[in-house]
Amino acid sequence: MFCPKCKGEYRVGVITCADCNMPLVDKLPEEKKDYKPERKLVSIHRYNNIPESHQIEALLKKAKIPCELHSFENWGYDGAFRGHMGMGEVIVPDEYADKAKKIIDKFIKDNK
Ligand SMILES: [Zn+2]
Repeated sequence: MFCPKCKGEYRVGVITCADCNMPLVDKLPEEKKDYKPERKLVSIHRYNNIPESHQIEALLKKAKIPCELHSFENWGYDGAFRGHMGMGEVIVPDEYADKAKKIIDKFIKDNK
């Protein structure tokens, strides 16, 4: 017999925990592991101008997808490099990547 509160073990026949005054149970419930996978952030899109990045950000927010905009400007690249890299990238948590990509694909198609 076990106390569900202090997890003390008692011999059969005892019905309450002497310490907690709790009714004993046959088995302790399995401990739920509070397992939180580490959040992985992925880059799903490179944008070439600021208005585009803000429109995408607004669309993702509307779809309740947390996102971040990482501007390459802070990386210290000069203009020459920025040409092929774009202005920055859109970062979302791993689990939202597929959904976010679809939204961005649609956005780009609609704006062509
Ligand atoms: Zn107890």
